[in-house]
Amino acid sequence: MDYQALADLLFPNVTDTPDALEERFPCRSLPEGAVVTRMAPSPTGFVHLGNLVQGLTAERMAHQSGGVLFLRVEDTDAKREVPGAVEVLINTLKHYGISFDEGATIEGDSGNYGPYRQRQRAAIYHVYAKKLVAEGQAYPCFCTEEQLAAMRETQEANKETTGYYGKYAMWRDRSMEDIREQLNAGNPWVLRFKSTGSIENQFKFDDLVKGKLTITENDVDHVLLKSDGIPTYHFAHAVDDHLMRTTHVVRGDEWLPTLPFHIQLFKALGFKLPKYVHIGPLMKMDGTSKRKLSKRKDPELALTYYKAEGFPVEAVYEYIMTLLNSNFEDWRRANADAAADTFKFSPKKLNPAGSLFDYAKLTDVSKNVIARMDATKVYKLLTEWAKEFDPDFGTKLESDPAFAKAILSIGRGGKKPRKDLAVWKDAKDYMGFFYDEYLSAPVFDEKFDSVTIVDVLNRFLEKFDINDDSGVWFDKVKAITEEIGFTTDMKAYKADPTAFKGTVADVSTFIRQAVTGKTNSPDLYTVMQILGYDRTVDRIRKTIENLI
Ligand code: GLU
Repeated sequence: MDYQALADLLFPNVTDTPDALEERFPCRSLPEGAVVTRMAPSPTGFVHLGNLVQGLTAERMAHQSGGVLFLRVEDTDAKREVPGAVEVLINTLKHYGISFDEGATIEGDSGNYGPYRQRQRAAIYHVYAKKLVAEGQAYPCFCTEEQLAAMRETQEANKETTGYYGKYAMWRDRSMEDIREQLNAGNPWVLRFKSTGSIENQFKFDDLVKGKLTITENDVDHVLLKSDGIPTYHFAHAVDDHLMRTTHVVRGDEWLPTLPFHIQLFKALGFKLPKYVHIGPLMKMDGTSKRKLSKRKDPELALTYYKAEGFPVEAVYEYIMTLLNSNFEDWRRANADAAADTFKFSPKKLNPAGSLFDYAKLTDVSKNVIARMDATKVYKLLTEWAKEFDPDFGTKLESDPAFAKAILSIGRGGKKPRKDLAVWKDAKDYMGFFYDEYLSAPVFDEKFDSVTIVDVLNRFLEKFDINDDSGVWFDKVKAITEEIGFTTDMKAYKADPTAFKGTVADVSTFIRQAVTGKTNSPDLYTVMQILGYDRTVDRIRKTIENLI
């Protein structure tokens, strides 16, 4: 067989050469050890937590080493593509702090190794396709769907491995005449790789996450180019990651089964094999067993979920870091104020079996992250969230920023900041009572009659001075307590509760409920300071009116 003639017949318009491409996309001049890696998502319109796990791993590996992170859009599967998905993808990744040095952007491509959208690279793939044909390493296959289905049936009936291999590879050694005849008839064809591998052979392979793997050679003549001339993932992966000078491939471990083929393909093309970082799936507990997070069953897989709940980006980022590198948490405890990207990330610490997603843990991380923010930042992020997801609350927050910031300052700063908020969605419940429209009417404990409560509130109003410091303020509350036969002596009360009508805690609760509508609130003295004299008094008066 004259393979060069076959190559010319199949790819008459390809005049470019692999050498020319090598020159056009030269090796990058980067410092020793610099990692060049990429995110290569398919634009399906669904960006999920798994994308972020891979993205952050890639981002850290590239930027921590002084290397390059680029974005390649894998749009070879036109059927799966959703309009606008590339924009969603780019914006979402950006929102989560993944910044690319080059690749696809909203405005187009940026960088010297493009195009970065695979459908625009057809001509490049064809150069290598032609080379493989000319070397006798690839061939056209004219099998119809029916023939392939029949082949599969036979294999299944014989209890053989299914696939296009060995004696089943019908077009592997066909003559030029057969091929010409099909081409002349205008029949569609795919380009297949001529595998020289055998499933009898195994070899060792080192994956940066999975460790040492024993790999069985591939014997299947996989498709390289589909009938429309667009490459399969496998072929595009080899060509793109070579020409874009990728040093590390960070991807999901669903690609492990085809890794033997990829290794073979890089070799056949004369490319240096990159290092592989195969990331396990995100799992969750379902009852007592673990399972993969699923798009259908688990809303928390979608990144839009975290935005709507109001998890700050930093919280999601930090949580993923704790998932990826379990020592991140200790590091964070010891370096409370350090920027997260100063943590020394290691892909070797990833759990080979995948990480266990734990919502309670995420919430905990988020509480800590929010507790470390200053009030101005909390105000900014909360308002942004509210404007989108609770516009009425957003308007209130924006109507008086100083007031909102004063509320959000409660318990902030210092060694042990309060951890009231895990998500912005909780904020209204936490602080809504400061706004008259969100204030709910108090429901007092039925143990106490309204005469007593009104008495307490009246006495408080008489003594209340907004200029008191918290000590004086509380002394007044204690004084009222004693005046009405309640006690400030909690020990004595515990010893004999029947000896008293109630305690200082009950008295405080009456006042708290009158002012906040709730039995729980941030420090009541501070709440009154923020509300101011008039609003505090007004609320207490209204409560009295409702009780009598
Ligand atoms: N487009 C592939 C995916 O979304 C990319 C895998 C890779 O990173 O190589 O799974």
